[in-house]
Amino acid sequence: MKTYDVTVAGGGLIGASIALELAFAGLKVAVFDAQKPGREASWASAGMISPTPESTAMGSLLPISLASVAVYPTFIRRVEELSGRPVGYRKDGGLDILLTEEEMKRVPETLALHGASGLQAEALSGAQAYKLEPALTAEIRGAILRRDEASLDNRSFTEGMLEAAQRKGVEIYSNNGAKSLWLEGRACKGLRLENGLVAARWTVIAAGCFSARIDGALTYAPVVPAKGQMVALHCEDVQINHDLWSNHMYLVPRNDGRIIAGATVEYEGFDRTVTAAGMKGILAGAISLVPALAKARIEETWAGLRPDTPDHLPILGPTDYEGLLVATGHFRSGILLAPITAQLIREWVTTQKVSVDWSPFSPMRFQERQQSRTA
Ligand SMILES: Cc1cc2nc3c(=O)[nH]c(=O)nc-3n(C[C@H](O)[C@H](O)[C@H](O)COP(=O)(O)OP(=O)(O)OC[C@H]3O[C@@H](n4cnc5c(N)ncnc54)[C@H](O)[C@@H]3O)c2cc1C
Repeated sequence: MKTYDVTVAGGGLIGASIALELAFAGLKVAVFDAQKPGREASWASAGMISPTPESTAMGSLLPISLASVAVYPTFIRRVEELSGRPVGYRKDGGLDILLTEEEMKRVPETLALHGASGLQAEALSGAQAYKLEPALTAEIRGAILRRDEASLDNRSFTEGMLEAAQRKGVEIYSNNGAKSLWLEGRACKGLRLENGLVAARWTVIAAGCFSARIDGALTYAPVVPAKGQMVALHCEDVQINHDLWSNHMYLVPRNDGRIIAGATVEYEGFDRTVTAAGMKGILAGAISLVPALAKARIEETWAGLRPDTPDHLPILGPTDYEGLLVATGHFRSGILLAPITAQLIREWVTTQKVSVDWSPFSPMRFQERQQSRTA
């Protein structure tokens, strides 16, 4: 039986980022994936690095989001240098496009939310927005420019991360997923895999929306899949530079000229069907924002499964089993939060302290809520 300092269940961006970070700390790490690593949510994503909270209810994400944005450039440099792959990082910012009077009325509230969060936001007139992005519809009433927003090619980044981790000595195993946690008394001794046991001082559950299927993990990682359908468009005549957001959808430009349009949020179990209704909504939204996209070639369609949680917040940190850690449930923010997730897990494993408060994301919160409901 093989023994490691750390064993990670799941080789998506989160598991791979944690593995690379721990390898940099000098630890012997292995990642086990149920299939070829990096082909689930991390592959399907839009790749936006957007620290803006989607609502005040998601405000508790802000400190870790800002901490993640701060370490992102170092994180990318490390992956690009070790893997030799560019990851398509773009720091052009995002534009919230406002098309109706109703949306214009929300500008002061949105600016206040950004101001209170320490994020840059600037209200633009329709004409100013149009000057920044001439492909936009002439219907535009105004926009909010968010300079803190960035994006990358999540597929290249995830592949680069896996490659970098391997070059740093991490062992990565495909088609050998975790069947269950290996628990003895109050300690986690490692994982029971499809092909035998693996022992480790620390075990990290990072299997995205599949985490709850690992026997013993459900209590700490009650994640469910939230399907997102996406389309990649290409049109020689259309260039956009910012991530464009409207009420209904977003458009994200890539360095190779593709424009990624998304996304639905659907709770359909583990189904990944691309549907007519999903495509209709996304394409109609894309054309209403950038009319010339009506002539775009559809290069690819796909659907991925975000790991969602009962409160839509990630699940990060230690459990009441010695040696067992959870890093999943990143829902719509796993690309944004990968660097800080890796950093916090490394800090805990090496010093049992963390530099950013992660208590709101504790894997113990679901049990505590259950107990207080039954008390
Ligand atoms: C359409 C869409 C758009 C998105 N857009 C954005 C965005 O713009 N910005 C952003 O920040 N986030 C975005 N997200 C969210 C982000 O992609 C996810 O939060 C993130 O990729 C989750 O990474 P992960 O490694 O936890 O999960 P995954 O990438 O799903 O990886 C989980 C891995 O675990 C493996 N696995 C499964 N079962 C087992 C097992 N039993 N044992 C071991 N391994 C197992 C899987 O094979 C897989 O490789 C988006 C997601 C989707 C679907």
